[in-house]
Amino acid sequence: MDFKRNLLITGGAGFIGSHVVRLFVKKYPDYRIVNADKLTYAGNLANLRDVEQAPNYVFVRADICDYDCMSALMREYEVDGVIHLAAESHVDRSIKDPFTFAKTNVLGTLSLLEAARAYWESREERYDGKLFYHISTDEVYGALSLTCPEGRRDAVSAHEVYGDEFFTEDTKYDPHSPYSASKASSDHFVRAYHDTYGMPTLVTNCSNNYGPYQFPEKLIPLFINNIRHRKPLPVYGRGENVRDWLYVEDHARAIDTIFHKGKVSETYNIGGFNEWKNIDIVRVIIRTVDRLLGNPEGFSDELITYVTDRKGHDLRYAIDSRKLKRELGWEPSLQFEEGIERTVRWYLDNQAWLDNITSGEYENYYANMYGSR
Ligand code: NAD
Repeated sequence: MDFKRNLLITGGAGFIGSHVVRLFVKKYPDYRIVNADKLTYAGNLANLRDVEQAPNYVFVRADICDYDCMSALMREYEVDGVIHLAAESHVDRSIKDPFTFAKTNVLGTLSLLEAARAYWESREERYDGKLFYHISTDEVYGALSLTCPEGRRDAVSAHEVYGDEFFTEDTKYDPHSPYSASKASSDHFVRAYHDTYGMPTLVTNCSNNYGPYQFPEKLIPLFINNIRHRKPLPVYGRGENVRDWLYVEDHARAIDTIFHKGKVSETYNIGGFNEWKNIDIVRVIIRTVDRLLGNPEGFSDELITYVTDRKGHDLRYAIDSRKLKRELGWEPSLQFEEGIERTVRWYLDNQAWLDNITSGEYENYYANMYGSR
């Protein structure tokens, strides 16, 4: 079968990647979607059960750091677009093992860029109709001051409260963790490939995602799972850090919009205008889980356990995504209350998925991070 486009999506077995793969496989039956994923602890093919038989979907277990393998994939599938999500993504792990983050996020991205460049430059049409789209994080921008009001803000009221206290596409990079430093470096490499070789590239920087299929080392699934097992909820410091949260399917929709309509060499910020202090998010999760489980003991606030703050913990991230709305018409579709309800329900309804990945290596990781309670 001849496909209209051949897209290589890296990291498609991870949290966000699986939502992007699902959306593209279903929405574009005339595109071939090649999902290349190393299947690290964070990659899980069970995230894609509903699309794995689709005629336009191919899974390849592959390491982005393996240049020969990436080159072979480019040639074999005649790749004309790359959406690059594969990465080591957990800040806590980056503090314990920065080398792995530099290797995957920096060298892996470079190997993929080189493989795409070599293949595309070998073609008669060269870069025509090609795109290398790199997915990144708002954490590259550093931290903002902590003047956070409670709860969700829409774009207008958030700007009334904070003035210019947002990350825009022009904010200077100032990463603080090994994770954000590695992502910042990979962003620079991607832009350098545009400026040096003329490769059509795009970079987007997104805020914290939440939703189904997230590995339960990240705050929301970790806490849902812990409440279910009546385990302590480890909150860093006093829980004052502020993050902007976006429902993962809204991020996938933004990626679709930007892939098809974004201007080459541009950067777009993606965010929810939905800032929460960590401790408030924890309370929302507790209330939602307890309500849905019909917990007879009332709310599980007694499980909250304050732990020593993360090293170099950035106070506040807040992203200004008005450019994306203005230029490409994207905005978040889901209110946080609805998104969190859907998310909690999904984890409670998919306990086998959670139980599967929280056995084995996860238990060692958990004991190492939080002790064996
Ligand atoms: P994740 O950890 O859930 O998934 C990462 C995926 O990459 C896994 O499937 C893993 O197996 C794969 N992978 C890791 N190393 C690989 C390698 N060397 N070769 C091939 N595959 C490899 O991550 P996520 O949360 O889905 O994040 C995806 C991307 O989005 C990352 O680039 C991350 O920096 C970025 N991002 C994440 C968030 C968030 O809130 N999760 C926010 C903004 C940006």
